[in-house]
Parts: sequence; structure tokens; C-alpha cells
Amino acid sequence: MEQGRNVALASLSGVGPVRSGKLAKLGLERLGDVLWHFPLRYEDRRKVYTVREAPEGEMCCVKAMIAQSPQLSRARSGVELVKVKCVDETGTLNLTFFHQSYLRHTFSPGDQYVFYGKAERQGRGISMVNPLFEKEGEEKYTGRIVPVYPLTAGIHNALMMNLARMAVDQVAPTVEEVLPLWVRQRYGLCQQEFALANIHFPQNFEGLASARKRLIFEELMTLTCGLAMLKGRRQHFDGLTFVSHSPEEFRSLLPFTPTDAQSRAMEDIFRDVTSGQSMNRLVQGDVGSGKTAVAAYGAWAAALSGVQCAFMAPTELLAEQHHRTLSTLLGPCGIRVELLTGSVKGAGRKKLLQDLARGEIQVLVGTHALFSQGVIYHKLGLVIADEQHRFGVAQRGALAAKGGEIPPHVLVMSATPIPRTLALMIYGDMEVSIIDQLPPGRTPVSTYVVGEDKRQRMYGFVRTQVGQGRQVYLVCPAVEENGGEEEGQTSLFPAMDLKAVTTYARQLQEQVFPDLKVGFVHGKMKSKDKEAIMSAFASGEVQILVSTTVIEVGVDVPNATLMIIENADRFGLSQLHQLRGRVGRGKYESYCVLVSSSRSETARQRLRVLTQTTDGFQIAQEDLRLRGPGDFFGQRQHGLPQLKVADFASDLELLHQARQVAQELVEGDPDLMRTEHRPLRRRVELMFRDNPDIFH
Ligand code: ADP
Ligand code: MG
Repeated sequence: MEQGRNVALASLSGVGPVRSGKLAKLGLERLGDVLWHFPLRYEDRRKVYTVREAPEGEMCCVKAMIAQSPQLSRARSGVELVKVKCVDETGTLNLTFFHQSYLRHTFSPGDQYVFYGKAERQGRGISMVNPLFEKEGEEKYTGRIVPVYPLTAGIHNALMMNLARMAVDQVAPTVEEVLPLWVRQRYGLCQQEFALANIHFPQNFEGLASARKRLIFEELMTLTCGLAMLKGRRQHFDGLTFVSHSPEEFRSLLPFTPTDAQSRAMEDIFRDVTSGQSMNRLVQGDVGSGKTAVAAYGAWAAALSGVQCAFMAPTELLAEQHHRTLSTLLGPCGIRVELLTGSVKGAGRKKLLQDLARGEIQVLVGTHALFSQGVIYHKLGLVIADEQHRFGVAQRGALAAKGGEIPPHVLVMSATPIPRTLALMIYGDMEVSIIDQLPPGRTPVSTYVVGEDKRQRMYGFVRTQVGQGRQVYLVCPAVEENGGEEEGQTSLFPAMDLKAVTTYARQLQEQVFPDLKVGFVHGKMKSKDKEAIMSAFASGEVQILVSTTVIEVGVDVPNATLMIIENADRFGLSQLHQLRGRVGRGKYESYCVLVSSSRSETARQRLRVLTQTTDGFQIAQEDLRLRGPGDFFGQRQHGLPQLKVADFASDLELLHQARQVAQELVEGDPDLMRTEHRPLRRRVELMFRDNPDIFH
């Protein structure tokens, strides 16, 4: 029989075709796969008790001798049961087995067994029902720490344990050591083989802890090496050198004086695009910090240098708004700014693409349609991605590929709700400018959590605000938060939701605010209609805008001062913070009301975080703590490979260490091609196999 990692599980005795099909569902096809299928948790069955010491009501191991031949009987319900009386020197253990009448032939008086089950007091002895049992001297599942594996229907833990045993014995010794000796020594990490053996069958909890630490480190180091290799690659790119037009010169175009933080970010960009190297910069700033103006500087500088700028937004709505802003700002300097979204079709699209290919359009604003097939740039020199947390690592590679021989500069704008740990991973390859200052005159948005009982008062407050000339957003959650709503054109959006928004808007219009103008917007509306309603809202013609989360990012109407969010408990905190960022953008005092009819105290507690702080970073940390990284932004959105043992939220220190090592390694050997680094390189390739864009 073939040995080692490539042995097909189907060929092993005790598996067979049916079980191997089920194992495949767990991603397990070969013995090598089992080695990396780690236990979910462990049961400590090391202590074997006497009858007297057995802890009441708990799962435990008890060693005893069979005292009499098993008795078969039938319960009143007709179920067959086998009763076995056992003893040790301290008392009696009575066993009952249901549905296993064959067991009457298994136990012979005088034999010693270890039983594992829940011990219930019974007179002076104890009883157990359907315990696991092992003959003394043959213990596999008792008297030790037992791993509990992720399972699926038809696959029992005992089978997983058997397979893991084989994998540890046959495969683990052949696994290449990926951590160089100096790394293991510096951070006190155990060897590969020890780690793999102990993660499955720990001798004790110290062994388990050291195995876990090593495997987490190894995983994070593999990940950060992959990201550092990407960075290494990028740094060596030559870049287009823009004509020297400084932020100083650009300032006069702006309707306001940029904050110091905005100016610094623009200076960073100026330095990058005139350095001769390719820019790869992230501009991070909380909602409302004025990132658009910074991006506009980049677009302007590109246009004046005779190259094109592609300005990508996550939603059509935001693309439309940026198109308006940039046209107003740059149009007067003779820069042509156009809009391309999925809804630009037919002859209009054809003409636009022609002009783009001829280089007659300098700035093209749009959704991801900007990078679809058939969109050909004359000379793409700058790619701007706004609100980048919607775009992952992999997508960035795809955009850079649209340029000519010299890759375009890349500028990514993002609000802060990415906790530092995740940011490190996602943006580890980028230079970062931080806008840590809001434009002057902003007052923090006062935030309240209210229940249904306050609805009438809340509507009264809407009236007061509108009476003072202000405007109001009213947001209803989408059932599919990460579905079609984001883009509005890619996937099906449940009809129910659209109805919820439109019905709600109509009710408000007819029954609550007949004298005011209520409008609505959602992701599935035609681009033209969305644009119409948004400009009606921007101009103040519509006073109350009912919407889905389509307005979540970037929408900017400074006269809006009140945001009401219905069923607020259905949103993540960071998302609520983003939504709230739609108000408090002008000179007026602003408010956010979170409506929740949830009775759960935790749900309300969670919402209260928003009433206490307006710091996006702090909110993001709290969100990460409460919901875990899996939920934070869907895996696909941040585009990182799936991790098996490490956890961004709790393994922060190891992450820093691993990242440090990765940087040192990649600095000395950028492609990890030295003999001693080859195993690590192979591991990196394996981890990133689903993200080939990152590598090639
Ligand atoms: P975000 O960082 O969320 O993208 P925006 O770029 O949309 O923020 O800016 C928010 C609002 O603040 C806009 O109305 C913008 O015109 C205004 N703004 C930006 N910078 C300044 C500034 N330095 N002074 C005054 N207002 C500013
Ligand atoms: Mg913005």
C-alpha cells in the first residue's frame, strides 16, 4: 500500500466510498489533508477515577471490573437494553446500554475496563448510560487528552481520530520544516513534527499551547511573506513621472482651505508621482475627513501630465456624486470628466469608449465597470479606488493590469473602520497617508438609541428639523446586506426589500408628512432615476429621503442633519458609523437616531457604543471584538486567504512578530529562492493558490 501524504482516504480500511464522499465534503481526500484538519477542541480524559471519586453529573473516566454477566431486558417501551454490573474496591458501577443488545456477548466477568460517560450517583455507587468503553491496556480514547474534530453527518470523531493518528505517524515526519532555525530560536517555537503531533494528540496542555503557538506563527508568517513578496515586487516598478504640479497650485481650485492633514496627504501623493517609481498609496481618514479633495488633486495632476485617471467608486450612487463634484472642480480647467457605470449603455457608451480610447477624456469616474472588457484607455496613469474596503487585495492587482507597459499609479481612499490588525494584512503592501483631522466647524453627531415607543416623538423631531430648513435621511436595512444592494446591478436583490423601502416611503408621504416631500432611493433603481432623486435631495427639493444602505458610503449632502436608522440592530457597528457619516457634514448640529425594537440587552449595549464615541477606529475595534473577523467584512471583500488556526483579533502579538520576520526574510531573499527558504516559498504558494492575481 502506498504510504504518506498522497494516500487516498478512500483506499483505507474503515473508510470506503460512502465515507470518503463525506470526508471530501470536509475537504479531506488524502491522508496529507487530514494532518491539517485540526481539532475544534479537546476533552481532558486523562484522569481515571474510582467509583467513589467520580465527579457527580460530569463526563469522566472510571476504571472497574465486570462483576456479572450482562443482563438483557426490555423496557416497557419495547426498547432492548443491556445492564452490566461492575465494581472496584470503592463501590459499584451500574451500566445501561440502549439499542446495543449485542453487547451482552462483549463483557466477561473479571475483565477490567475503562468507561467514559456521565456519572450519576445511585445509592452508594454510580451509574452510566451508553458509556464509551475500552479494555484495560488498549485505551485509545480514555486516559488522555482527546481531540474533538469538526465533523459532518456520517463521520464520527473516532474515525477522524484514527485517520489523524495515521496522518501523524506516517505524514508528519515527512513535512518540510518551513521555519528557519533562527526564527524558532528567537521566538521559542517548537519543531514542525512536534507541533503537528501535539495539535492532534497533545500529551498535556503545555504541549498543546506550544503546538498552537507555532502553527499560528507559521500561518501568519506564511501570509505576511506572501504579502511582503507582493510589496517587494511592486517597489521595484518604475512609475510614470508626472509633470510637477504641486498641491499649492491646486489649492486655489478648492472652495475651502484644505486642512493640514489633507495638505500632507496631497504632498505625499505629489512626492510619489514625481519620484519615478510607481505609487501604491492608501489614504485613510474617517468619514467626512475630506478624502475626495485629496483624490481630486491626484486626478488633476494626472490630467495636467497628459495621462488618464480612472476613479472607481463602490456604488453607482457614489460614482455619480464624484462625477458631479469632479466635473465642477476640474471642468473649469478644461479637464473632461465623464461617468461610466453599468447603466451607461448603447450609443452613449460607444461614443464614450471611443473618446476614452482616443485620449479625449482625462478623468473617467465609475464603478468596477471601469475595468470591464472593452474599456480601453489611451494612457492610463492613475487609478483611484474610493472606499477601498469594498475591494480586496486581488482586485487591486487586476486594476493595475489595465495600464500600459508602465503600470499606473494606484491611490486607494478608505474610511477607517478597518481595525489595525486587518489593515496591516490588507494594506501591508502600501504606503499610508492618514487624515486624522476633520474640517473645521464640525460638531459630533449626537446619537440616540430608541425603541418603537418613541416613534411619534421621532417623527415630531423630523418635522422640527425640516421646519428649520434641514433635511433627513431615513435608512431601512436590506435583508441581504452584502448582496446586490452594494452594486445594484450584479446580483438579485430581494423584491421584498425594495417594497419595504417604497412602501415605507409612500406611507410616510401619505400618512405622516403629507405636506413635505418624501423621496426614496434603492440600489435596483435605474441610474437615471437615482441620479434624479439624489440631485433633488442635494438641491433641497426633497426633504426626507428614504433609502436602503445604498447611501452608506460617501454620499455628501451637508444640509442633511438627521439620520434615522430603522432596525439598527441588524447592522454592524462600523456600518452604522459609515451611515451616520452622511450627517454632520455641514455647519449645523446633527443627529442620528438608531431605532431598535430588540429586547436583547446585548443588542442595545452594542448600539450604545455609537452614542459614546464618534471615533471610527475605536468603533471598528469594538465591532471586531463583538462579531469576530469573519463577520467584519466578508472574506471575499478583504480577499485574504482563509486561515486555519490564526485569528486576526486575538493573535495580534504573534502577528506583529510574524510580520517582522517576514519582512526580514523577504528583504534578504525577495523571492524566497534560497535553498533554506524553498519550503516556505512552497507553503506561501499553497496558501495563495486561490489568489493567483497576487502573485503573477
Ligand atoms: P470623506 O472623507 O468622507 O470622503 P468628503 O470628501 O466627502 O469626505 O468631504 C466631506 C465634506 O467636507 C464635503 O462636503 C467636502 O466638501 C467638505 N470638506 C472637505 N474638506 C474640507 C475642508 N478642508 N474645509 C471645509 N470643508 C471641507
Ligand atoms: Mg468619500
